[in-house]
Amino acid sequence: RFIALEGGEGVGKSTQGRLLADALRARGLDVVTTREPGGTTGAEAIRSMLLSTEGDGWSPRAEALLFAAARADHVDKLIRPAMAGGAWVICDRFVDSSRAYQGGGGGLSDADVLDLHRIGSEGLLPDLTVLLAVRPEVSAERLALRDGGQADRIGGRGSDYHARVAAAFRAFAQAEPKRFALIDAEGSPDEVHGRVMAALAERYL
Ligand code: C5P
Repeated sequence: RFIALEGGEGVGKSTQGRLLADALRARGLDVVTTREPGGTTGAEAIRSMLLSTEGDGWSPRAEALLFAAARADHVDKLIRPAMAGGAWVICDRFVDSSRAYQGGGGGLSDADVLDLHRIGSEGLLPDLTVLLAVRPEVSAERLALRDGGQADRIGGRGSDYHARVAAAFRAFAQAEPKRFALIDAEGSPDEVHGRVMAALAERYL
């Protein structure tokens, strides 16, 4: 199985990824955790180019191509082999982030983002995308506690951009209720984890 964790900045994806992986391992399942952009040497190199604060940043199309290239390497070298070996793959962000950020936020059409994904990664989609969502004021509070308050690891994107990202994520979840589990990510990590496990149990466990 291939599970992606998605959501805007500061919703708790990394924490929930760890809790989910631990819970599945405790059931005796083979679990591989990974993240994007990143997950392989090449994709981590692209990640540092994308997140670099030097220079004047990337144009929206160049940014989308870099994300697609990083994902292609990650899918070929890590995700598909792990799935073929029978593991559960838990990935912190996947193509729905590109659809929400480079598409909803950056202005590329969803069709273009999905075309890049088809070319790069043969259109691989998660079996389930767990979308963690909080109210904007909660996300702002959580970010203030992280990284000394750096709101966005890619610079130059304001609150309008992030509002478009959040709206895009919600629209995708509504359009594909089978592939998405929309999770209320407010409350303690354990409470949110309980909701994530309930969503998985409904489908698989
Ligand atoms: O999830 P994480 O915080 O590690 O993501 C790193 C940065 O990359 C975040 O600021 C996120 O907004 C950005 N990102 C993006 N487009 C993607 C994936 C991540 O802008 N497709």
